[in-house]
Amino acid sequence: MKKNEMEQLFISKFGGSSESLHVFNAPGRVNLIGEHIDYNGGYVFPAALEFGTTLAIRKRADGKVSFASSNLPYTAELKLEELGTSKTGEWIDYPIGTYVELKKLGISLTSGYDLLFHGEIPNGSGLSSSASIEVVTAFAFLSMEGKETNKVEIARLSQRAENQYVGVNSGIMDQFAVANGAQDHAILLMCDTLEYKLVPFRTGAYKLVISNTKKRRGLVDSKYNERRSECDEALAILQKREPSLEFLAHLKPEQLEQWQGDFSNEVLLKRAKHVVEENARVLKSVDALSANDLKTFGELMNASHDSLRDLYEVSCLELDVMVEEARKIDGTLGARMTGAGFGGCTVSLVHEDSVERFVAEVGQAYKERTGLDGEFYVCGVGDGVHEMKGEK
Ligand code: ADP
Ligand code: MG
Repeated sequence: MKKNEMEQLFISKFGGSSESLHVFNAPGRVNLIGEHIDYNGGYVFPAALEFGTTLAIRKRADGKVSFASSNLPYTAELKLEELGTSKTGEWIDYPIGTYVELKKLGISLTSGYDLLFHGEIPNGSGLSSSASIEVVTAFAFLSMEGKETNKVEIARLSQRAENQYVGVNSGIMDQFAVANGAQDHAILLMCDTLEYKLVPFRTGAYKLVISNTKKRRGLVDSKYNERRSECDEALAILQKREPSLEFLAHLKPEQLEQWQGDFSNEVLLKRAKHVVEENARVLKSVDALSANDLKTFGELMNASHDSLRDLYEVSCLELDVMVEEARKIDGTLGARMTGAGFGGCTVSLVHEDSVERFVAEVGQAYKERTGLDGEFYVCGVGDGVHEMKGEK
């Protein structure tokens, strides 16, 4: 939402004028390639989206903090000292949990505030509206209190808010991408060390099309744990040959080929192959994008999906159908599932002239083959969290 529209929305809710009103924005995110690699010591490669969560915020004199969202009806007005004393189970747990983490770092609010959120990210679709609302809150509170806004620290404390206060166990990628993303760039991130590099990703005439399968993700937790322990087993086999190997993703594809005879269990070998080759694909993607070679990047996206389907076995009919149909459209450079799998979204790189056809034809074929109404979000790569200043 534009800054002046957000100001109008805020004023119609809380009254007063736009003087001393500040507007902040944090994007959603999508992982472009590098799936099921983070817990194996490899790279993820997310990008911030052009749409996200906007927050309009203004100090108030009576020491109360008021929360409202244009997306959800629940509102609350709490005294400063009440913040974080009891979980509500409502959406305000996300911004309040973020404040609880700021307080642990010794940063308290010195006045009351009115906050109005407006989210453009569909909730619960895997595009990380939760990280977006956490990160925009942390950035806004720090800015309003005149404190330093270190985006890596903001990502870390937002992740803690989600893990500890909200109680959802998630890795650091989402908050990191939402905080540190940059327009026309993807983020090469090592989740363990938080070492990262911004890689040019000029999509030009191409758009990211995110296709939501709308399939409920029932299996994801149990299969996730199963894959993690399979990777541990594969690592143990390889460590007999490579004693200094700490993580599966640190192995090169040619090393795995050399030791593949050690695997009596075909399934473990398939899992290891996915991890080692997917990590190599991330690094190849960095080279391709640095050379502005979107075609090669699209091929790597395709290979990633096929590996997740055949070797890692975390896809499902709905994701496969969405990807198959996407690849039939002229102008699609690549398509793959994104996220943990068993449902959720796919991401495709599609020429802007083909986007309309893509949405119509993929949507129709998907419905015919699965009975489900998919949903499509078209966007470019946006900026990480920031204050909307000159923007209208
Ligand atoms: P995802 O992060 O994939 O979108 P989650 O279930 O992790 O899904 O987070 C969604 C939740 O985050 C919502 O149900 C709501 O509680 C909160 N949330 C996100 N954006 C907003 C918003 N703009 N206004 C209010 N609550 C929001
Ligand atoms: Mg989330």
